[in-house]
Amino acid sequence: MFLWSLVFGAWSLCTAIATEPKRPNILFIMSDDHAAHAISAYGSQVNKTPNIDTIANDGMRFANCFAVNAICTPSRAAILTGKYSHKNGVTVFNRMDPDQWTVAKELQKAGYHTGMIGKWHLQSDPQGFDFWSILPGQGVYHDPQFITMGNKHKIDGYVTDIIADQTIDFLKNAPKDKPFFLMCHNKAPHRPWEPDDKHAKMYSDPIPEPPTFNDDYKNRATTASVATMRVDRDLKPHDLKQKPPAGLTDEGLKKWKYQRYMQDYLRCVASVDDNVGRILEFLDKSGLRDNTIVIYTSDQGFFLGDHDWFDKRFMYEESLRMPFMIRYPGHIQPGAFNDGMILNVDFAPTFLDYAGVKSPKEVQGRSIKPLLEGKTPGNWRKSMYYRYYDHPSEHMVNKHYGVRTDRYKLINFHDLHEWELFDLQRDPHELNSVYNDPKYATVVKDLKKELERLRKDLGDHDQWVDKPPRSVTTAEKP
Ligand code: CA
Repeated sequence: MFLWSLVFGAWSLCTAIATEPKRPNILFIMSDDHAAHAISAYGSQVNKTPNIDTIANDGMRFANCFAVNAICTPSRAAILTGKYSHKNGVTVFNRMDPDQWTVAKELQKAGYHTGMIGKWHLQSDPQGFDFWSILPGQGVYHDPQFITMGNKHKIDGYVTDIIADQTIDFLKNAPKDKPFFLMCHNKAPHRPWEPDDKHAKMYSDPIPEPPTFNDDYKNRATTASVATMRVDRDLKPHDLKQKPPAGLTDEGLKKWKYQRYMQDYLRCVASVDDNVGRILEFLDKSGLRDNTIVIYTSDQGFFLGDHDWFDKRFMYEESLRMPFMIRYPGHIQPGAFNDGMILNVDFAPTFLDYAGVKSPKEVQGRSIKPLLEGKTPGNWRKSMYYRYYDHPSEHMVNKHYGVRTDRYKLINFHDLHEWELFDLQRDPHELNSVYNDPKYATVVKDLKKELERLRKDLGDHDQWVDKPPRSVTTAEKP
């Protein structure tokens, strides 16, 4: 009997090993404030990113990946929880309740070796990671402090290089008998855009100005002209790092400031690109390439002088859109492109899908695995819901929520009792709200209905809207 059990046991084990598909490693590389239009795979007019482009060339690039609340901390919480801000409790720069469900905890439970390296910015210590090494708060570019598994220490060097060093070390030391899930989060290219010496001389030729650089904010909600994120007015000496030449006209000064801002921003991006190259090279050399899903994204988009702005927050395209490219050799067609609408809350369920783990019911995103396999479901979303809460605060962007479809975007700046409607087909730069144009009356009516449907489906009943920012501390229990 004993012998039979032993033989049967060994046979079952072999069968299990033979039939269980090998679960992929997941390497999630995210930068901070890296706009899609500063990536050459997205047709950038201002720079080249050959290493980041490699991920798009080897896999799939998404044209319409959107953040549900386009600001650093809330986007990070949405990614980890697969939920909107009103469900995970991280609406502004508030502390994430670390006891709530996250994809890292779920993957760890499922046998993944989990890691988190770089910018965390959720105030509570990471949970669900076998290894973590994070920047305190925003972190700094040069000789940064890190908190590694609870211990604070300084590391000499440049933050983007150090994050890549730690990423490669994690990959070297990951146990061979488990798949890994690693979140590699760059600080760059976040403000104050401090490049390293290696890239400090790049972009000495003039950088092209965006088509909306001289936006006059006519036919728009009041907040567009009130927001304090103007290149010509709101960049500080620590952003510019040099005194402007004497004798410039107002226009000349604005142009000079744009060049200073973009030179440093793009130099920080160039370092990110180099380090993505180092990481990809390590995957190739170590034999990890084939069984590792690699993603490159950013926590939201960014204004690169568009509308004369820097920063993000608005539901407008440059800020709402996240770059998103993903490769998985043998599983995702190289050079593929997808214009389906995906959201940052979809990342968690996608990771779980690839790991063979079912997402809990309360997760609001949806796995994009079928899209990656070229089989977009017929009922895939045709609209997305957005909500921004951080007001009053730096940059003074008013609170708003809205809905975007493939053609239209309806935004409600509810504190101002002002609405905007953009016809993205006719006005891709969002310069002219047609909310009050009678020709769009039916569109407005239909979109308001859709907006309310989304609010109801997602359980947003204004539960956070009147709370003072930064006092929110607890996630809403599912
Ligand atoms: Ca950010």
